[in-house]
Amino acid sequence: MKNKIKEWLKSGQIDIFLGYKTLQGHPLPHAFGKDNLEDIDTLITGSNYYPLEKIATKLVAEKPDIKIGMITQDHSQRALNVLYIWNQLDPENIKPLKGDGCSSNLKEHADDSHREAGKSGQFKKQFGMNTHASIEEAEIFAQQERFQRWMYEFQKCIKCYGCRNICPVCFCKQCSLEHSNLIGTGSLPPEAPIYHLVRAVHMAGRCIDCGLCEEACPADIPLRLLYRKVNAIVTELFDYETGSRLDQSPFSIIGESITLKLKPIAAA
Ligand code: SF4
Ligand code: SF4
Repeated sequence: MKNKIKEWLKSGQIDIFLGYKTLQGHPLPHAFGKDNLEDIDTLITGSNYYPLEKIATKLVAEKPDIKIGMITQDHSQRALNVLYIWNQLDPENIKPLKGDGCSSNLKEHADDSHREAGKSGQFKKQFGMNTHASIEEAEIFAQQERFQRWMYEFQKCIKCYGCRNICPVCFCKQCSLEHSNLIGTGSLPPEAPIYHLVRAVHMAGRCIDCGLCEEACPADIPLRLLYRKVNAIVTELFDYETGSRLDQSPFSIIGESITLKLKPIAAA
């Protein structure tokens, strides 16, 4: 793998390679360049918590023609597909290289363990929503109790923006979560549930279920469950499978950009 990356850099197929390197004892994202090919020998090929796709998006925003190689993991292709169809990255300029697999925590998120948790029938949190609950498990509660449980979770938020900052498919230059017309800026905690509903709506058709936001959340809010529910609605209504294919238009419900097949909704 390392020889292949060196070859890509030497031949000009890529300008940089995004991967991980241990710095001061911690594996951190690193951009390997052609000026120091020996540096590639320090590349760590396993995954880590940082979404390299997000770093690539930021680099391309600064330098649109840059050619980037990068280590990818299980969820990366879904993230790349979303970023391609939203024109944030050009597939012609990205060369993915499969890494050694997910780290243990991400692996836990990338498999179906949350569904098993749902089947267990056990609900551990007395007031809020379980972090690993399935949609089905969350929906065993009547609407009012569900609402109260979610509100309990939302009021724990300290508005650190960790969920937004780590998300590989959050790329807006002006973020609604900092817009005073939508969110009460300057207030802590953020007004519940506005902050979370604004983000959930923006994740419709974008969230690739990587679980990084939930990992980052210091308040243990089951963010992944929230966005999974939003995307389940999108799939049900619009037949849209986020990140699964490249031949989909960006999911949007604004004006003429509705190009999706609407499924008929059963009469009440
Ligand atoms: S799971 Fe969280 S971090 Fe991952 S894509 Fe969805 S919203 Fe973003
Ligand atoms: S990471 Fe958690 S605490 Fe921080 S803003 Fe997001 S939901 Fe709130």
